[in-house]
Amino acid sequence: MTHIITALCLRDGACVTVCPVECIIPGLPQEEWPWYYIDADTCIDCGACIPECPFEAIFPEDEVPKDYTPSKEGMQISRYDGTEVYDGHDDKGDAVHVEGVRTLAMGEVVDLTVDSQPNYDYFNSAGGPEPERASDRGAKVGMGYKAIGK
Ligand code: SF4
Repeated sequence: MTHIITALCLRDGACVTVCPVECIIPGLPQEEWPWYYIDADTCIDCGACIPECPFEAIFPEDEVPKDYTPSKEGMQISRYDGTEVYDGHDDKGDAVHVEGVRTLAMGEVVDLTVDSQPNYDYFNSAGGPEPERASDRGAKVGMGYKAIGK
């Protein structure tokens, strides 16, 4: 199994800091890959990233809700059908600008299971990260990524 970052992600990045195996990276180019993504091959399902996400965007893969309803007013979802923008700051205080988001209505039901596949696709995509595997770096555990393109 793995954990999944869903379209509730608005690029906070705190999850990256706590992941013990460095398997979460921001999507680049952001216009094509608007969230952060988890490498399923490396994730050890420790769950450390879940409480770090201020948008409650991360789930164990088998618990990604098909009938998600927002837990509070003003929650936004980052999908291409959105016409709004999100302007905020990440966990390091750097500006974040995400286009194509929309605000969820209270009581609205959203299928987040469709967000699982992009986590796999990103790591298999030509424009995705170039893996810098532990063996390449002489490290004993973990995998880092060099995001290519911007
Ligand atoms: Fe990383 Fe653990 Fe989250 Fe998997 S569950 S992405 S290993 S912090």
